[in-house]
Amino acid sequence: MRVAILSDIHANGPALEAALDAVGDHDQLWITGDIVGYGPHPDEVVERLRAAGARAVQGNHDAAVLGRIPTGTFNDLARAAVEWTAATMATHNLAWLASLPETRTEGDFTLAHGSPRDPLWEYLFSIPAARLSLAAFETPYCVVGHTHHQLTFRDDDGQVEALLAGDGDTLALDERRCILNAGSVGQPRDGDPRACAMTLDTDRSEVRWLRTTYDISATQADIRALPLPDRLADRLALGV
Ligand code: ZN
Repeated sequence: MRVAILSDIHANGPALEAALDAVGDHDQLWITGDIVGYGPHPDEVVERLRAAGARAVQGNHDAAVLGRIPTGTFNDLARAAVEWTAATMATHNLAWLASLPETRTEGDFTLAHGSPRDPLWEYLFSIPAARLSLAAFETPYCVVGHTHHQLTFRDDDGQVEALLAGDGDTLALDERRCILNAGSVGQPRDGDPRACAMTLDTDRSEVRWLRTTYDISATQADIRALPLPDRLADRLALGV
């Protein structure tokens, strides 16, 4: 089976289309949260995922749009986007977001947005944090998002190592448990503005990371035409 794994789409329609094109044919689509927030296309993105039968979990931006968590810890840009998104989204698409769990299990994988230990909030940027999370799920492997970085933590016989990934990199899955991150489709923050994606081939036990260009100017124009902060448009070209 071939699985497309996407994260942090952040309501960026052109980036989602480019990421789906880049991964090609797939049997399932897994989404590790932050489907909306920041971007100008929340309804379009949710409808695309619903039509594709995506198996998704909520991220902190999704939960904030649903009013499930306070936005007091969000920065001004994020809060403004959450408020606009909540006010603009169609009721049936909000209901779909609300139906999503915070974690789910798909085969050998646990899906969570931040971490399996703290699905909505925790950023897995460090080996100590990853070590705690490696003890917090039952399956061999876990997929997260939230940091917007293509970064893996792997437990090599008690030593946790961090592995950065880039376009075209693959990782063979073996007995070593790991937490994988596909990076962000709609708002990369590693200095590379291209949309991120990941594929899983369960027959070969291999994951592959991808980057793909998309029409950034189209998303920027849509942000600027809406009551969203211009800085949300500016950052897309920089990948920050
Ligand atoms: Zn995010």
